[in-house]
Amino acid sequence: MTRKYLIETFGCQMNELDSEKIAGVLDRAGYEEAAGPESADVIVLNTCSVRDKAVQKVYARLGEFRRLKRERPGLCVCVAGCMAQLEPARILARAPCVEVVAGPQKGLLLPELIERARTSGGSVVARRGEPSAEPAETPYIRRRSTYSAWVTISEGCSRRCSFCVVPLARGPERPRPSRRILEEVRALAAEGYVEIILLGQTVNSYRDREAGVGFARLLREAAAVPGIRRIRFTSPHPGDFTDELLETMVSCPAVCNQIHLPVQSGSTRVLRTMLRGYTRERYLDIIRKIRAAARPIAISTDLIVGFPGETERDFEDTLTLLDEVQYDSAFSFKYSPRPDTAALGLEDDVPDEEKGRRLTLLQERQRQIQSARNSRYVGRIVEVLVEGKARSRMALAGRTSDNRIVNFDGPVTPPGSFAEVEITGFGPNSLKGVRVLQAGTVRQAHPPGMEGI
Ligand code: SF4
Repeated sequence: MTRKYLIETFGCQMNELDSEKIAGVLDRAGYEEAAGPESADVIVLNTCSVRDKAVQKVYARLGEFRRLKRERPGLCVCVAGCMAQLEPARILARAPCVEVVAGPQKGLLLPELIERARTSGGSVVARRGEPSAEPAETPYIRRRSTYSAWVTISEGCSRRCSFCVVPLARGPERPRPSRRILEEVRALAAEGYVEIILLGQTVNSYRDREAGVGFARLLREAAAVPGIRRIRFTSPHPGDFTDELLETMVSCPAVCNQIHLPVQSGSTRVLRTMLRGYTRERYLDIIRKIRAAARPIAISTDLIVGFPGETERDFEDTLTLLDEVQYDSAFSFKYSPRPDTAALGLEDDVPDEEKGRRLTLLQERQRQIQSARNSRYVGRIVEVLVEGKARSRMALAGRTSDNRIVNFDGPVTPPGSFAEVEITGFGPNSLKGVRVLQAGTVRQAHPPGMEGI
């Protein structure tokens, strides 16, 4: 009988793509996807270690699978991803139901690791040893979307932000050869994919030394592939932001007019202890250039509150940074100490309650900014890449090039198609509208009042 697998993914888009690769190699090995945990013979938790909350969620889930394993001893529970790399002994001690632990560079070996665990009757741990020069590749990727595809351009990170476990979990940065990346983009276009998202931990530090191709050129060449209507990239590091990249974003219509540029804090003092490699002023210089570009580009960011030593004044600096930048969206979190990071040596001196207060204040300020920015879209017609049924009572949902979610009514059109939508309403996190059948496109124009912001 065909064995069935279930994969649950935690964390970033990099993990989402890794899960698609794990699904691809399991399919290739003769497995089939299960409808749920009850019908699965193999359960893979593809984990994230970036925040303690994500780690605790995984342990809670493993507690549930422990009961399942008692009922069905043949069930094989696997932990993949960053937690598997960083804390295999703790996983096996806290969750004895786990049979396979496979770090981020070992996920593609899961079919054989599962087999080894079955035949040995014990647990199997596979972690990164010496990292290879290039990311592991597989042609077997079970993509969830039929129109939008993630493409790895590099793995790992060679920076050392003091709060971050990624370099420890994923190793130093390893770029893929540009030739292979472009071949993959062309193959995806030939299959009908219209949107590509280039992924790298610090995506814009990409460099194929042998071919002499840097990130801006790679982006330009990928954007020129016929059939690719939209191309995004995540996440760039402010320290690697170049004028050439901005020029590419302005001059290539297929490159989406959106950039996620993590700042983490608005205080230069805190940025120094975070080892981010830039100051508030340098970051704001980049923002000013982006805002002055000939094409309006939406900006989003990541923020941490309550980093060790963050004073009220430092936090105020973060709030004023929000006011100054006017982000289109922001992901914000309370600092949580992570094992083996440099920040662990600093006193975690902002009480949890105070971190919560700062987070609430910051999120409220950002909601107001987002509402104000979204309000300016009312009356505009935007091009939306349809993603499927809306969660709201409206018929469909999709995204604009500048990454705004649009819920809209009108004739149903399949995911992956494009629709012109007139915006009739807004909230802090999305827009709503009505599909217009006679295209009267006002794409890429500055919404009224946004010039030069
Ligand atoms: S740039 Fe910093 S935050 Fe981003 S993955 Fe690398 S170490 Fe982590």
